[in-house]
Amino acid sequence: MKHSFERVFKQMRQSRETLKPNSILQEVGTILSVSAGIAIVEGLPGVGFEELLLFPRHIYGIAFNIDEHQIGVVLLGDYCLLNAGDEVKRTGRVMDIVVGNELIGRVIDPLGRALDGKGKVSGTQRLPIERPAPAIMSRSPVTEPLQTGLKVLDALLPIGRGQRELIMGDRQTGKTSIAIDTILNQAGKNVLCIYCAIGQKSASVAKTLAILKNNQALDYTVVMVTEGNDAPGLDYIAPYAATSIGEFFMEAGKDVLIVYDDLTQHARSYRELSLLLRRPPGREAFPGDIFYLHSRLLERSTHLNQELGGGSLTALPIIETEEQNMSAYIPTNLISITDGQIYLSPSLFELGVLPAVDVGKSVSRVGGKAQRPAFRSVSGALKLAYAQFEELENFARFGARLDDDSLKTIEHGQRIRSCLKQAESSPLPVAAQICILLALTNRLFDNIPVDSLKNAQQAIVASLNTLEQDLLARLQLAESLNEADKHQLISLFKTTLVSFSESDKATKLKTVANGTV
Ligand code: ATP
Ligand code: MG
Repeated sequence: MKHSFERVFKQMRQSRETLKPNSILQEVGTILSVSAGIAIVEGLPGVGFEELLLFPRHIYGIAFNIDEHQIGVVLLGDYCLLNAGDEVKRTGRVMDIVVGNELIGRVIDPLGRALDGKGKVSGTQRLPIERPAPAIMSRSPVTEPLQTGLKVLDALLPIGRGQRELIMGDRQTGKTSIAIDTILNQAGKNVLCIYCAIGQKSASVAKTLAILKNNQALDYTVVMVTEGNDAPGLDYIAPYAATSIGEFFMEAGKDVLIVYDDLTQHARSYRELSLLLRRPPGREAFPGDIFYLHSRLLERSTHLNQELGGGSLTALPIIETEEQNMSAYIPTNLISITDGQIYLSPSLFELGVLPAVDVGKSVSRVGGKAQRPAFRSVSGALKLAYAQFEELENFARFGARLDDDSLKTIEHGQRIRSCLKQAESSPLPVAAQICILLALTNRLFDNIPVDSLKNAQQAIVASLNTLEQDLLARLQLAESLNEADKHQLISLFKTTLVSFSESDKATKLKTVANGTV
């Protein structure tokens, strides 16, 4: 073993010494074998780790396993077009991606090729897809909020610029919708968005693109797509390439939001490649470096300090769980890498509580510090009341007799749940959210039937037009509200809501008895 290592090192040293700048391109190897997504190549003695190799028909590959006699290459194109015996050339560079303002509004693949039929992407600047994460000293604490436009998140699970917040849940629980709503809410907020779809069905990608297009979100968004039938190598490089594009803007001082949809597929593609390359399988057949796969990706999201321009890269990685198993291998890895998780529950989804965020199982660790004061002043009471309600909810469902206090808690909880519901693609501005939450925590909705809450909320939002400009401006910035402001708002809402109030206590009790959603 020792001898073989020594021999390899000797060969590498010799090849480096004999390597002249021009000789890189003269090195030509041969394909020994090709299979789904990988090729085994021999005869490139000077090749470096992760060097880009050129195959016939303009297919690129990344040198991944460098053994004594042969190289395992991850292919970035269709393996069916290659044959054993074909020539392979070195390029002398690592994989990189085109970056720049030209990419805004474009749909590209991880090699920078246009997928939107709008012609070649014209950028000239390129960045390697694998770049070191910013050093600790280059980072600043997360202080600015990234508003998602979703009441349940902005109030209870706030996200800060530079934070990494995992979105997790079973299949079809609304994971993509949360991320897309967050992108839609960045309109006019000077946040550049990147949506990276990894190995998804064409139909889902088309649906997402249509939502972005119809809401004019492509004006500030870059979309990177790999689809289910693309080479697994493309899935593997996609999030790194998308991150390099994000870093370009972050280093120019911008705030960037990046969505990886989803990293389960990314991990599966990496497992597939690793097994084909005969890397030793570990737990659930994933290779030993699976944690490093995602940690080196998500470490690149940060808030840079002022000397470096003060830009930020906020990451919303998405992960799919199976049978609500949050403690499976890849989900727990990602939970430990990120700054919190938004857990989507299939049972809430079935009950029609959308977005189906399970507040009890979700957490946002750094976002609270970035939350605006007006939000913070309403969210504490809300969280507690909601937690108490969830505990009592099951009793109510079985028709248990409850005392007056418990009944009030349940009625209030029902209204919180109902107010936190929100339709897709309809992010709510900050001022409207604060006012609804203010009315909610001051129990102004408690006398209103749950069915009428949607209209009641709309009435509150409409009543904001009557406010004086100064107070409205402060609400829009979510600055802290003084007692006089709160008093003024609450009395306005009280008069607005008079027509919705219900006097008949019997109907109220009926709502409780009919179920709690
Ligand atoms: P997949 O696992 O297939 O990626 P997903 O978890 O990303 O699914 P989505 O595709 O976002 O889930 O949403 C699933 C379905 O739920 C979609 O049909 C979407 O329209 C619907 N949906 C999601 N959020 C809402 C909402 N707030 N209101 C109404 N419908 C919603
Ligand atoms: Mg999805």
